[in-house]
Amino acid sequence: MKIPDQARAILVTANHILAAQGVFDGFGHVSLRAPDDPETFLISRSRAPQLIEPDDIMRLDFDGAPVGDKGMKPYLERYIHGRIYATRPDVGAIVHSHSASVIPFGVVADVPLRPIYHMAGFLNEAVPIFEISDCAGPNCDMLIRDNDLGTALAQELGDSTMILMRGHGSTVVGPDLKAAVFHAIYAEMNARLQLQAQALGTPRFLTSGEASAAAKTNAAQIDRAWELWALDVDSQS
Ligand code: MN
Repeated sequence: MKIPDQARAILVTANHILAAQGVFDGFGHVSLRAPDDPETFLISRSRAPQLIEPDDIMRLDFDGAPVGDKGMKPYLERYIHGRIYATRPDVGAIVHSHSASVIPFGVVADVPLRPIYHMAGFLNEAVPIFEISDCAGPNCDMLIRDNDLGTALAQELGDSTMILMRGHGSTVVGPDLKAAVFHAIYAEMNARLQLQAQALGTPRFLTSGEASAAAKTNAAQIDRAWELWALDVDSQS
C-alpha cells in the first residue's frame, strides 16, 4: 500500500523539529498511526533523525513487521510503537527519545517528574517508570527489542501520556503528531526546569486543577508552536 505523500512530509518535519529542539540526537524515533490504514503505523527506517527524508518512511504492522518496503532496515525499538498503538486506540502518534534532562527522573523514583509550569500541564498524572529488568532480567541492553518488552512497556504506560524508562529514556504519546511532538519537547523542558528549581529548594508545582486547565489551553494552541518549529527546520533544508 502506497504511503501518502502528506504523511511522509509531516513525519520528516517532526523528525527534524525534534532534532533541532534537542529531544533527538543520532537516536530517537517518532511515528504516526497511518491515516489510510489505522491498524498500521508509519515511521522512518533506522536512520539519524536529522537526516531523514520522505523516501525513508516505511509502514509497519503492530507486531513491528514491515508492510511493503521490505528492503529497508527498521529501528530495533519499533516494538515500542506497535504495542502502544495496539493497546491505545486514542493514540495517534508516539515519540521515543533519550532526551537528557528527563533521564534523572527515570533513575530516582522518589523524585517524580511533575508539572513545574503551565506548558507541561499534560504531566498532571504520575508518570510511570518502566523497570526493564523485571521483564528482561539483570543483563539486558536496556532496549525494547521485541514484542514482549513492547507489551510490558505499553501495560506500564496504561492511560498516561508519558512513561519514563529507567536508565534509557522516555516515550510520550499524543492524539496526533503535533501533540506528541509538543509533549516530547515540553517534557524535556519541564525536566530541565524542575532540576533547576529543585537545586534552589522545594518547588511549588502546579496543582492538579491548574495542570489540567493549562493542558486544555495548550492543546488548542499547538499549531502556533508547530509553525515556528517547522519554519526553523525548513529554513535549514
Ligand atoms: Mn531507545
